[in-house]
Amino acid sequence: MCWRLWNGILIYLFILFMLTPVEGKAYRGLKVVSTVSPITNIAHNIGGERIELHGLIPEGIDSHTFEPAPGDIKYIIDADLIILNGLRLEAPAERLILANRKGSVRILRLGDKAIKREEWIFDFSFPKEKGDPNPHLWLDVQHAIRYAGLVRDELMNIDPANADYCKKRAAAYISRLERLDMEINAVVNTIPTKNRRLLTYHDSWGYFGRRYGIRIIGAIQPSNFAEPSPRDVARLIDQIRAEGLPAIFGSEVYPSKVLDQIARETGVRVVTTLRDDALPGEPGAKDHSYIGMMLDNVRNIALALGGDAKGLDLIDPADIKD
Ligand SMILES: [Zn+2]
Repeated sequence: MCWRLWNGILIYLFILFMLTPVEGKAYRGLKVVSTVSPITNIAHNIGGERIELHGLIPEGIDSHTFEPAPGDIKYIIDADLIILNGLRLEAPAERLILANRKGSVRILRLGDKAIKREEWIFDFSFPKEKGDPNPHLWLDVQHAIRYAGLVRDELMNIDPANADYCKKRAAAYISRLERLDMEINAVVNTIPTKNRRLLTYHDSWGYFGRRYGIRIIGAIQPSNFAEPSPRDVARLIDQIRAEGLPAIFGSEVYPSKVLDQIARETGVRVVTTLRDDALPGEPGAKDHSYIGMMLDNVRNIALALGGDAKGLDLIDPADIKD
């Protein structure tokens, strides 16, 4: 009787063992959390399907003030790697990340590693006396190339099994970015020299301007991200008249009545479709990418300032395929 009972238990345990999936050995992609969409897209172009990627900051949201929702915390707690722009771009989100991360997580601050202190830009909304440089590095494509390289090196380091995969994708992506950088230069060169000046609402174009030879003559949004005072607006109106600008630029992320007022009083054209971290198109669309965003921006700038943007049509905005 006893022997039969034991036999039964052993057979039962054997069947149970055969049916239980071996969880420890099952393949699981590295869990990666990133912040703004251009960085999320760059990370996707390197890690492809071999990482589980979650972008924290939704598109069309002000990244400088965004605070993750309680539902985002689980991604932070689970993450193996967290990729930030750094340079205090996403300060409130970073605070929450540091408070909720697990001990073993790697944190990669791209902006802090991509350029040296001597290359930092302080300007209208990011004045030197406040201490934080302008964090919008990725609008210079050479910086995006460094971001891609940093993500590649980090992924290769923490996930050697997929190192060749990431290396191959990074090479294809970076060669496309090099081409984009070249074409942006060529397109800016078609803009009449006297028009190569930018006045934007949000102050995110400093590194872009320095790379491609466009002078940033001001930003409308003050450093506390509030609306400018009536006195500031009056000063801007004088400046726009004195400089004879063909157009000024805003973005959908920062809709502002001030832009309409300036347009009314100066007759300047207002282009409201510049993007520094919201990708164009719907998720899944070909141009819903960092490259798509840069193509869109440079087309908008070139057309409004009297340039010819046709060279950009040669660049494929789609993500790298395996
Ligand atoms: Zn910004």
